[in-house]
Amino acid sequence: MADKEDINPENVAGTFYVDSQCIDCDLCRETAPNNFTREDDEGYSYLYKQPENDDEREQCVEAMEGCPVEAIGDDGAK
Ligand code: SF4
Repeated sequence: MADKEDINPENVAGTFYVDSQCIDCDLCRETAPNNFTREDDEGYSYLYKQPENDDEREQCVEAMEGCPVEAIGDDGAK
């Protein structure tokens, strides 16, 4: 489960976030390219834009459920 106290600093504010457990597998960036991107220097993902419509929201949920290390969190899904 993602830890809100340990999120990557580049995440934009909002319901979805990536925490420091990310292993840079690329799944979320492939699944929800409008919302996730890579921090190239450190090698991890973060939210550069929160979902703004149902399609993007569904892609973010799919990315969260598919993340192999559960590094993606969603405050709205509690
Ligand atoms: S799916 Fe999870 S581990 Fe893979 S890049 Fe995204 S946040 Fe990191």
